[in-house]
Order: sequence, then C-alpha cells, then structure tokens
Amino acid sequence: MNVTQELLSRLLANQPVTAAELALLLKAQGKACELIYATADGLRSRRMGDEVFLRGIIEFSNICKNNCWYCGIRCDNTSVTRYRMTDEEIIETARNAQRWGCGTVVLQSGEDPFYTAGRLGDILRRIKEETGLAVTLSVGVRSRDELSRLKEAGCDRYLLRFETTSNALFSAIHPDEPFENRVRCLTDLRELGYQVGSGFMIGLPGSTPEMIAHDILFATRLSLDMIGCGPFLSHPDTPLAEKPLLADREIYYKTIALLRLLNPDAHIPATTAFDALDPDGRNLVLQRGANVFMPNVTPGKFRRNYQLYPNKPCVDEDGAACAICVRGRLANLGRPVGSGPGHTKRLP
Ligand code: SAH
Repeated sequence: MNVTQELLSRLLANQPVTAAELALLLKAQGKACELIYATADGLRSRRMGDEVFLRGIIEFSNICKNNCWYCGIRCDNTSVTRYRMTDEEIIETARNAQRWGCGTVVLQSGEDPFYTAGRLGDILRRIKEETGLAVTLSVGVRSRDELSRLKEAGCDRYLLRFETTSNALFSAIHPDEPFENRVRCLTDLRELGYQVGSGFMIGLPGSTPEMIAHDILFATRLSLDMIGCGPFLSHPDTPLAEKPLLADREIYYKTIALLRLLNPDAHIPATTAFDALDPDGRNLVLQRGANVFMPNVTPGKFRRNYQLYPNKPCVDEDGAACAICVRGRLANLGRPVGSGPGHTKRLP
C-alpha cells in the first residue's frame, strides 16, 4: 500500500491523522489525487446519500461596519452601491425560494447593525409562519443575548466562518475583531442549541498546505453540523487586490474531499466561489465530497452590489433562473434534489 492509500484507510477507519499527514494528502498529484476524490465521493454517498439539499441564499443587505481585508463589501469600498432589502422583500424572496424547491433559506448580510435581534426576529417569525422553511442566519458576530433571542424567534441554524486558524493571519486581515470573538460566538451558538456551520477560506495570501491542514483539523474539532469553505478570490477594491490563486488548483478541491473524510456526517455545501474558480466548480465539488447546493435567490436588481469577490456567477440572473439552472446541473450529475429541510444528521 502506498502512503496515500494508507492514510485514506486510516481516515475511513476514523483513526486520527496529524496536520503533517493531511498536508501530504493536500500535496497529492495525479492518481493519488483522483483516489482522494473517489474515496470522499464514496463516503459522501454512503453516509449522506445522493440527495443534494438546496439552501436558497438571500443577500439582504450589503451594508457593513467592518473592513475585512479580503471582502468586496468592506465599509471602505466606496465603489459599491449600498442597499437594504425591506422586510416585505425578504419575506417575498423566502416564499419564492420555497416555490423553487429550497428546504432552507439562508439570510446573509454584511455586519449591519440596522438589523437588530428584534428586527431580524420579526422577519424570522414571519418566514417560519408563512413558509415553515428552515432558516439559517449568516450575519456575523453577535452577542450571546442577541443569539438567544434569535433562537427563540425560531432560527434553526447559524453560519459563521472562522476564516483561518492562523492567529497572525486572522488579526492581519480583520482590523475590527479578534479571532477569539468568532470562536466565542461559535461556542455560544452550540450551547444555545443551534445547528452550527463554520469554515474557512482556502488559499488566503501566505497560506501553505500545512496551514490548510490546521484549518481542516480545527473545523473537525468544532464538530460542525455544516462546513462551508471556498477559495479565496482576490477582489480589486481591497487591500488584498492582485493576490494570486494557489499554484496547485487541485488543493481547493482536495480540501473539501479531506473535510468530508474527516466529517462523514456533516453537511458540506458546494459554495458559490467554486464557480468563480472554474465554470463547473460547484459540480466538481459535489463529486468530491459535497452534498449541499446554495442557489442564489436574491432578487436580480441587488446582485451586482453583493460581490464579495470578482467573477461571482449569476449576478445578471434572477432567482428563478438559478433555481432552474441548479436542477439541470443536478440532473446531469444524476443526483436528486433533497426533500425537506435537510437538518443535521449529528446527534445533539
Ligand atoms: N458578514 C457575515 C457574512 C460574510 S460573507 C460574516 O462575517 O459572517 C460570507 C463569507 O464570504 C465570509 O465568511 C468569507 O469567508 C467569504 N468571502 C468574503 N470575501 C471573500 C473573497 N474575496 N473570496 C472568497 N470568499 C470571500
């Protein structure tokens, strides 16, 4: 047995691996790389089934008080036209998402203090009453008190990426908040009974296979219900403009495959940023460990102004188009659309 095969057998047997060993897998090439993909795809099929759950993402505000160095909607970027969707627009979009076959809506925004826990709670209650959909919030770091009120309003899940486990890198690119706050928030979410999603950007400037291996291990230690990761894509209007992609493009995909191998029961989305990396990026990720797709259901008129990274797909489309397109993509892959909310498989 060669090294790759031996490490993969250990992962399948749920035996621990070190960061150095994961880094070795991240560097695998050719046949070894294909074997990692096939093994992750097989495990995904056995543990999560072939269904792909649709989570419709509503980008309801691009107003942000923070200045994260990578993000296209950071507050210092004056070339963005700022918007907030009204409560009515958000709820109408959730109704559409349901019509288009999504079992979950994900409400995402910049860190916009206008949406207090009270206001978000009202929106959440109305969505739950009118549609019964599962609701995920992705609105940045909030206090435990706010998170508790949002849970009472019926919020099912929360998505907050830790972005990187390198403390030096995290503080260099997040002028507004320390790493500990994000981790504190993730702990609060877990204690309050949320289904918790987190993850990181793959290939931030200066990152190495060893650093990515640490990110994978950290995500695994958090015992997440959902793990969302995507490639870092350099945005021209940010301090990280013109930073290159990783030389080995396969590392982005190998990261997802390894996350699956270490987290057999987690929901793993094929995140939108993969389509900005490769035209069929999200399809490839669904064949390399992922089981969730997040169609953009944001009304077309807002989309151009929610570009966290360049080349974001579908910014000239509307929600209905994305909902039709995703069905075609899944049909081509021979994967059925998941029914129901697609809650976590992990036991509390
Ligand atoms: N304000 C919320 C939502 C952020 S947007 C929050 O902070 O949680 C969701 C994710 O987009 C971020 O967590 C980040 O990982 C990702 N993102 C932002 N800019 C990006 C870029 N340039 N390339 C790739 N992903 C990016």
